Parts: sequence; C-alpha cells; structure tokens
Amino acid sequence: MEIKQLTKTYKTEYELIHALNHIDLVFPQKGLVFIVGVSGSGKSTLMNMLSGVDVPTSGEVIIDDISLYNGNKKQLFGYRNSYVGLIFQDYNLIEDLNVYENIKLPLEFLHQEDFSIVDEVIKKVDIEDIKYSQVDQISSGQMQRVAIARALVKNSAMILADEPTGNLDSKNTRIVMDLLKEISQDRLVVVITHDDDAAHEYGDRIIEIEDGKVLDDHLVDPSINEPMVKEKISFSKPIITFKQQLLFTFRFIRSNLARSIAIFIMLILIPIIGNVLCGYAFFDIATSFHRYQDEYGSNYIELADNIKGYSTYYSVDDYGDLLDKYGGENILEIYNTYVPLVNSSVDLEDSFYAPVIRNIVTDDYERLNYQEGHAPVSLTEVAITDYVSACYENYVGRPYVIGDRINIGGRYYDICGIVDTDYEKFLNKNLNDQMVQMAFQENLQLYNAVISNFVGYHNGIKLNMNYFVETINYTVTPRNIGDDPVVKEATVMVQKLSAAPTVSIVQGSRLTSSSGSGSSAMLSQNLWQNIMEENEIKVNSFSLSCMNSYGQRNRYLSIYASGIFRDLSNYGIDGTVIVKDQYFRTRVDKMAMCRILVQKDNIFYDKIIKTEKVVNPSFTYAKATWTKADSSKFVMYEFLITLLIIIVVFAVIINSMTLNAEKKKIGIKYSFGISKFPIIVPYLLETIFYVIVGFILSLVVVQFIFPWIMTTFVYTSSQEVMEYQFFYISWSSILGWDAIIYAVMFISLITMVLTICRKSPIEIIKDL
Ligand code: ADP
Ligand code: MG
Repeated sequence: MEIKQLTKTYKTEYELIHALNHIDLVFPQKGLVFIVGVSGSGKSTLMNMLSGVDVPTSGEVIIDDISLYNGNKKQLFGYRNSYVGLIFQDYNLIEDLNVYENIKLPLEFLHQEDFSIVDEVIKKVDIEDIKYSQVDQISSGQMQRVAIARALVKNSAMILADEPTGNLDSKNTRIVMDLLKEISQDRLVVVITHDDDAAHEYGDRIIEIEDGKVLDDHLVDPSINEPMVKEKISFSKPIITFKQQLLFTFRFIRSNLARSIAIFIMLILIPIIGNVLCGYAFFDIATSFHRYQDEYGSNYIELADNIKGYSTYYSVDDYGDLLDKYGGENILEIYNTYVPLVNSSVDLEDSFYAPVIRNIVTDDYERLNYQEGHAPVSLTEVAITDYVSACYENYVGRPYVIGDRINIGGRYYDICGIVDTDYEKFLNKNLNDQMVQMAFQENLQLYNAVISNFVGYHNGIKLNMNYFVETINYTVTPRNIGDDPVVKEATVMVQKLSAAPTVSIVQGSRLTSSSGSGSSAMLSQNLWQNIMEENEIKVNSFSLSCMNSYGQRNRYLSIYASGIFRDLSNYGIDGTVIVKDQYFRTRVDKMAMCRILVQKDNIFYDKIIKTEKVVNPSFTYAKATWTKADSSKFVMYEFLITLLIIIVVFAVIINSMTLNAEKKKIGIKYSFGISKFPIIVPYLLETIFYVIVGFILSLVVVQFIFPWIMTTFVYTSSQEVMEYQFFYISWSSILGWDAIIYAVMFISLITMVLTICRKSPIEIIKDL
C-alpha cells in the first residue's frame, strides 16, 4: 500500500485545519507498524484515509495499482468490506448483537457460509467464556478483544487499529499488543498509539507524525520489507442476507421498545381522532346514506312529495316528471294496499315472512328482474315477488306459482310472473340489529308487493302512462236507457291535456272541448255498441256516475260524445270513456296516492338524495347527523390540519430520537462497506412490522372498542345511537389514516437515514 501526497483539510467556522499535509508513505505487506505523535497531529485522520472511512481532500491511496478514492463507490465499499479490518479505540461493537454475532457479522457480509473460524478467533483472543454475552455487559478489555476478533475473522490483508489500547489498563494493553504482534506475522497491522514504550517494544517500524507531516520514519525490523507472495486482491462488496436484516429489525424493535409503544399508541389514537374529524368535516349525506345502503343492504330510496299521516304520495303528474328527470329504469311507482296472504286462523309465528302484501308496484317498462314468467301485460294479470311466494309457502306449505289467482280488493288476478328480489340475503342477517331491521323494512317496499299495470286497485285500471294519466272506475249511466243499462260500469280514462290518446278513431272526432258540463268524451267501440247501438238510441250525450277513490262520493257528469275509438282489447275493458283531465284534475291528483321507489344504483343518486323528499326511516337519522356535522364543519377542518401537523411532528421527533441512538450502528455498518439501501432495510422492515401489527390493533380498537364505548357511555338514547351509526359509517377509513402515519414515518425516516449516509462513516460514528 502506498499513499501519495495525501492531504486532508478540515474547514471549521474560524479556520482551515491541515490535518494531513502532503504525506507520502509506502507500507509493507506485513509487520507491525506504529504511527505515533502527539494528540492532534493527524494520526487518526491518516488512519481514516487508509481504512476508507473518510475521504481525503487530495492525494491518493493506492493498493495494488488500484486508487481507492477514484470515485468508484462500489470499489470503496468492497475495500472496506474485504480488504481491511478495523479496530477502534472505543471498540464500536453493535450493541444489538451479542459477542458471537458481532464477530460473525463480517463473515456474513462476505457471504461466507463456514463460520468455524469464528470459534477459532474467539479462542485466539481468549473470550470463550463470554461468547454469548451481550456486548454492553462485558469489560472494556473484553470488548477490545471482541473488536480484534471481529477484525481478524475476515482474514483481511490489513488490520488498522486506532489507539486500540487507549481505554485499557496495562494488563489488557499487553494482551492486545501481544495479539496484534502475533497477527502481524503474515499481514500488515498498522497501530496508532501515543504509548511510545509499547511502540518501541513491539514495533517493526515506527512512523512519527507531527502537524500532518511525517517527522520520522524508523525501521526496526527490515525483514518486514521482504515481499510476500499473496493472492491477487479482489474487493467484494458486502451482502446482507434477508435473515440478517430480519435479525437487525428484530433487535432494533427490541432495543427501541419505547418507540414501538409510542407508535402503537399513535396508531390507535390517530385513526380514531382522524376518522372522527373526517367524519364530521366531510360528512356528505349522499355518500353516507349510500354507504349505509350498501352496508346494510337497503336497496331503495323512497320518495314522497307530501307527508300526511301515513299517506305519503306524489301526484301522478309529478311521478311522470320524476321519471323524465331521473331516468325511468330505476324508478318504480308504489301504492299502499293490504292483501292478506293467509286467513287469520293460521298461527302467525314467523316474523320474517310477512303474511300480507303491502304494496302495488307498477311495472310498465319491465324494470324488474323476472325469475319466472313475465311482466303483467293485461290488466287482469299481476306478478308477485319471490318473497311473497315464500311468505305464502311459509304459512300454507306451498308457494304461490304462476297460474295461481290472487284476490286483490275483491277482484281476481292471474299471477303471470315472479320477480326476483334479493330478500334471501336477510335470512342470514341479524334482524335484531336495528340497522339491519331498518334496511329490511325499507326493502319490504318491494319485497311484499304485487306488480301490476294498474294504479291503485281502488281506482281501477291504468293504461300506458304516456296516454292516460289516470283511470277511474265510473258507473256509466247512458241517458234514456232506464233502470237497467246493458253496461253499468265503464272505465273512464282521464287524458293529459297535452297529448291526445293514440287510439284509432273509428267514427267522429277526437276530444274537442274540455271544460264545463258537456265536456267532450270519446267512447270505446264496445261501449258504443253495447249501450248506444243495441238500444237503438242515437244520442250523443250521456251521464257518468263517478266515485272517488274511496268509493264514497257519487258525481254525475253530463258528457258529449265526440267520437268512437277502437277498443283496447288486451286490457279487457268492456267499456271505456276518455275525457280530458282538466275536468277531473283535482280529483285525479287526490286519488293517486303514489309513492316512488328509486333503486339505489340510479345514476342520479346524489341529486335525488339532496333535492327530493326522501322518506326512508333511515334517512331521518342520516339527516340529523348531517345537520350536526354541518354546524361543526369549520372547526373540524381546523382540527384536521392540526392533526396532520401533529403526525408529521411526531414522526420527525420519534425518528430523530431513534436515529440518534442508531447513528453509531449505522456508521459501523457503513464502515463495513454496507451501502445506503441495505442500511435502510431494517427500518423499512420495521415499518412493515408496525403496519401489520398496528393495523390489526387499530382495526380492533376503531371497529369494536371505540364504537362500544361511544354507544354505551356517550350516545345513550336509541335515537342518538342510530345517529351515531350514520356518523360512524361516514368515517373515512382506518387504513387511510394508518397509511398516512406510515407514509410520514417512512418518508421522514428514509430522509434522515439518507442524510446521515451522506457523511463519511467516521463522521457518522463520531457524530460530527
Ligand atoms: P490525532 O488522532 O493525531 O489526535 P486527528 O487526526 O484526530 O489527530 O486530528 C488532526 C487535526 O484535525 C486536529 O487538529 C483535529 O482537531 C482536526 N480534526 C480532526 N477531525 C476533524 C473534523 N472532523 N473537523 C475538524 N477538524 C478535525
Ligand atoms: Mg486520534
């Protein structure tokens, strides 16, 4: 080894220190070379240049024609790893590892698999009795012997020792010096000391340094200059196995228990606080309500314009408007009804299967999913749901099937289809849970319904929405027929003013006038034939006897017939009269007790939730929560920002505290030739460890313990509990908050480690 014009200049605040000043030296391949000199003369600086743990300002260190500081980092790391064994005054053992592991470490970095040499060197330096001790529990003489063993074990070509006996008593000094002397038989050992006696007793060559220059170079034993036959040197970059990294990680966590506990506390607290803050700050009723529906399986939004007692309804015209506005496909029109499935003598035990059909749902556009049969096409057909069928089966022992007849309001209807609902999903849910129960009830709007083309059975029959707004059952009493008309009942359809019915006119004209008594009307062919022609009465006016939806009130209208249209035979009506709606309008509005079901996947979900009157029971709670959240939004934003700042500050503090403790270890590994990334890996693994354990911990606390505390001690009334549920499901995710903590922790840690590694190993070790 040769050094040429080696110079190291330190810049301090006040001056430039020339620690090494253009030094030239040639070292032999073996022998014990002492470097002596007063304190501050530059010995350590020289040593650090030789060992590759610091970088010279100028000049070269040449080993076998390879210039060490030529900018090739890989080569420098390899040099540190395989060519040189280092012994420091203060030992620099890795505290996380025991004696044996410390000594074995360089071998692992050299990817050697035979560790028998470890025991050999342990025997050689005579520390067999402390082989498995922790390194902070042994004496300083033993520590230095461990350090020597660690330098010896890799069988490097050169051993450099900076004041190896500086902290030792005379007995231990002697042991160490004897060891170094023995080692120097077949390799170069360079030792720094200010112990002149030792130098003269043991040294083969003594170099004296003063003010960064060689003052004296004294060869005691010329035989050390005889060239040795040595293998061609190769620098091998260190490798750390994953197992080794895991060990580092494990030891790191163990030796930083306080840090681990602090992180776990953060991991538990921050998701709770963060989620609470986010829950209030970002509470959006549509999102929250949607989540509730997803989570508990509530499939519909129920809309109503007016709420009067139990009757919630839209006018039929409004229904048409909503269809246009929100896309008809996900919208259903529903009417209350009451159709017992079984007679009351049956023992009604099972509360899951309701023995009553509650609603009539219109399904003009086949919006439902038929598992069997088809949507009703005539007015004498209805479809039922699989739930209704199952309810029937539950009490009667056999399900309703296609072809059965069902009595609704005194009329019989043929079952033409069975609609597939997802009611089975509630069979395995806990219906004692209030939220589940509520969602189930909301779904029952469809589950226990019959599907029909008519609007409300009170009112009779409804035709295609586009042509007829409402149909009303009227008794038609043609004038001059007397007491026994051929057709006593006809269906009167009230047409929208805007659109004429697209029926084909057989005779006469479409509706002409629309106001006052004597409004025009159109008669169906059938009605005309039955009433008018068969009785040979050529009159064009007749009267209608009307009933309101409750069948209470009669009203007689005098109608002028303007034309005859072809019968709508598939509706099975024996007589039809079409009149314009202006005349009937008010009554029609009141008759149509329509509510609206919107399936939750309607693409206008958010808009519907925010602008229409939603009457789902669950919505009451969601809205109450929304109101509370709205009033505290601003404060919550402030807290949120504070929380994020706290996370960052926490991460920085805890990381820098840890790294202060870790610095030396990092420096030691670095001086062994380990490069930056492998140094970071244990911290990365540590973070992964916290991710796994922390996530499980925070999950348990946030999902179970915290809600339990809240609903047991804070929100005590059942109304409050339900509101809390909506608040709870609006939470952002635990995972999100954990991810923030980990990301911040990780970024700050990596940044810090990288900043540390920008220095030279010796600067890190000495914490400069
Ligand atoms: P020795 O080991 O012989 O006691 P050093 O090599 O440690 O001496 O130091 C030589 C000179 O360089 C001293 O004046 C010391 O103060 C200075 N020095 C060493 N390291 C640094 C440093 N990192 N920054 C500034 N000055 C330094
Ligand atoms: Mg020194």
